[in-house]
Amino acid sequence: MTERETGYDCEKAGAELDAFVRGELPLEAAGRMQAHLVRCGHCAQVARHEQAFRDRLRRLSAGCCPDHLKAQIVELLETATGPDAAT
Ligand SMILES: [Zn+2]
Repeated sequence: MTERETGYDCEKAGAELDAFVRGELPLEAAGRMQAHLVRCGHCAQVARHEQAFRDRLRRLSAGCCPDHLKAQIVELLETATGPDAAT
């Protein structure tokens, strides 16, 4: 079972993942992405990571933390996601 048959592989999923996590993907594309995430553990992990990251940032920007702590956490999160996690 390969993704090549549908023409929707990790490369395409990766390109749309950001919009998917933000909920900006059109319904059809989001469905395609979800189908890919079910089959692809790697992309599913990246998506979960992105979602958790955005979730935390949203909560931080909601003002539950002092600014200096917020900056520290954002820095930690960015280090944890790093450039390697996205590629
Ligand atoms: Zn994938």
